[in-house]
Amino acid sequence: MITVENVSKSFPFHGNRVAALRDVSVDVQAGSLFGVVGPSGSGKSTLARCIALQERPDRGVVRLDGLNTATLDGKRLREIRRQLGVVGTKPELIAERTIAGNIASPLEQLGVDGPQRRSRVGSLLDLVGLTARAAQKPEELTDGQLRRVAVAKALAAGPAVLLADDPTAGVAAEEAGAVLAVLDRARAELGVTVVVTTPDADVVRRVCDDVAVLDNGAIVERGTVLDLISTP
Ligand code: ADP
Ligand code: ADP
Repeated sequence: MITVENVSKSFPFHGNRVAALRDVSVDVQAGSLFGVVGPSGSGKSTLARCIALQERPDRGVVRLDGLNTATLDGKRLREIRRQLGVVGTKPELIAERTIAGNIASPLEQLGVDGPQRRSRVGSLLDLVGLTARAAQKPEELTDGQLRRVAVAKALAAGPAVLLADDPTAGVAAEEAGAVLAVLDRARAELGVTVVVTTPDADVVRRVCDDVAVLDNGAIVERGTVLDLISTP
């Protein structure tokens, strides 16, 4: 369970400050797929980065399973960050390595041995539907497939939470469904809590349980997708 309590965050801007988040509170239920929707510049990435512990709120608290992350020292912060899988807007894959090698790289860093690595990479390739692409290089895949690889890589270390920042950005419309299906499978098959940010209400409608609507750094609506989106 993720709790964001009264979080505010601003950034310096031409000698002034620009507010990216204004007193934002959200609850994300464990095992749910939570959507943060809003126009460009509304604060979605900043909220995702605060939850991922990549950005520290100016005010307010992010709790992960009740743990107040504002009080963590550097070592604990690094430990907790490892339980958070992150897919950024520009997924960074290693061009020289295969798809399997990219998914394996976090496991190598964790010192997971060869046989265990192979088995884990195998089930992740299966989860994202790219088993047939294991030996290919990133340049041979489409943007939608690369997003799915990035999700598999983010899941490799077995995080409890997956954060996907605008996962269908730059993905062809006919491939977006497959990317979203992978997020849904991560939740359904691995029990991962998924937070997805998107400017696209259709993304939220297709896969999210609960949603928060951001505008100009503030939550303007919050509820289940059925409450907010399916009303004509
Ligand atoms: P979104 O993801 O909805 O597009 P962001 O969270 O990226 O929104 O940005 C919200 C606001 O905060 C914007 O005005 C943006 O310019 C500003 N902002 C975000 N990150 C930074 C940063 N690192 N430095 C300066 N301004 C930032
Ligand atoms: P690279 O050339 O990118 O280093 P490797 O072939 O060395 O790629 O594979 C990297 C990792 O991925 C190894 O841990 C290997 O066990 C695993 N791996 C490779 N191919 C597969 C596959 N088809 N299924 C599961 N794991 C694989």
